[in-house]
Amino acid sequence: MRNNDVGLIGLGAMGLNMGKNLLKNKFNLTVYDVRDEPIRVLEKLGAKAAKSPKHVGNTSTIVLLSLPSSKEVEYVVLGENGLIHSLPEGGIIIDASTIDPAAVKKFSDECNQKSITFIDAPVSGGTIGAEKGTLSIMVGGPNEKVDECKHVLQAIGTNIYQVGNTGAGQIFKLINNMLVAINLVGISEGFVLAKKTGIDLEKLYEVLKTSAGNSWALEQKLPKMIKNDFEPGFKVWLQHKDLALAMSLASQMNASLPMTSLAHQMYESAKAVGFEDLDHSAVVKIIQRLSLKDIND
Ligand code: NAD
Repeated sequence: MRNNDVGLIGLGAMGLNMGKNLLKNKFNLTVYDVRDEPIRVLEKLGAKAAKSPKHVGNTSTIVLLSLPSSKEVEYVVLGENGLIHSLPEGGIIIDASTIDPAAVKKFSDECNQKSITFIDAPVSGGTIGAEKGTLSIMVGGPNEKVDECKHVLQAIGTNIYQVGNTGAGQIFKLINNMLVAINLVGISEGFVLAKKTGIDLEKLYEVLKTSAGNSWALEQKLPKMIKNDFEPGFKVWLQHKDLALAMSLASQMNASLPMTSLAHQMYESAKAVGFEDLDHSAVVKIIQRLSLKDIND
C-alpha cells in the first residue's frame, strides 16, 4: 500500500509547483517554509501548515525538500527543530535541492544513525517542468528505499533515473548544470553578435531551434533575452552556486574544466553587479557589457 503521508519543505519557484502536483495526486500533504505566503497558497488547496521542519516530521513518513543550498538543508534536517528529531524510523527524506555531494554524505550518515534514509533527487526541467510535473529526477540511494518513494517522485516528474548510490544524483545534476551555464554563455554571445549586426532576432530563434546549435537552454531562454525579460525562473545566484560546486568537485577529482571555469566567472560578474535574483539568462547582460556600448541593457 502506498504511503500517503508526505511532507514538503521549501515552497519557492520549484517547491510550490511540486506541492500543487502532490495535492493533485491526493497525498496528505504537510508543508513548511520560512515564508508565510506560499504556505497559505498550499493550505487553500488542502495542505496542512507546519510551524517547523520538526512539525512536518511528526505527520509524515516521506519528506520532500526543495531548498536553495546545503546550508538550508542542514538546518532543516539536522538543526534544533530538524526533521531528524521527529521522522519515524524507516522514514525517508527526498532532497530535490541541488547541493554539494559531500554534504549529502554527511546528512545521509547522520540520518542512518536514526534509521532514516536520506535520498538525493535533484531535478531538471525548470519551473515549467515543476508546474507540469514533467521534471527529470536524478536519484541516488538504496534501491528498496527509492522504490518505496517512487510514487512521490512520479507525482512531480516523468523521467525518473536511479543513477547510483546516495550522492550520485548530485554529480549527475552538477554536470547537467555546467552544460546549461556553458550553453547560456554561448547563446548570449550569439545574441550579442546578432543584435550588433541588426539581423531579425525572432527569425534567428526560429532557425536555431531546428538547427545544430539548438539546446534546451536556447529553446527556453533565447526568447527571454530577445524580450529583455529576466524574471526568474532559475536565479543567477543558484546557477553560480552550482558552478562553484562543480568546480570544487572537479578540483577534488583532478579534473580541469576550462569552459565551466569561464562560465563560473561570468556568473560571478552577474552576481557582483547585482543581478543575483534575476533569471540565469541575465548573464547576457554581462556579455553585452563586455563588448557593446551601443546596446541598452
Ligand atoms: P527559491 O529560492 O525560489 O525557493 C527556495 C525556498 O526555500 C523559498 O521559498 C525559501 O523561502 C525557502 N527556504 C529557505 N530557507 C529555508 C529554511 N531554512 N526552511 C524552510 N524554507 C526555507 O529556489 P528554487 O528556484 O525553488 O530552487 C530550489 C532548489 O532547486 C535549489 O537547490 C535549486 O538549485 C534547485 N533547482 C531549481 C530550478 C529552477 O529552475 N528554479 C531547477 C532545478 C533545480
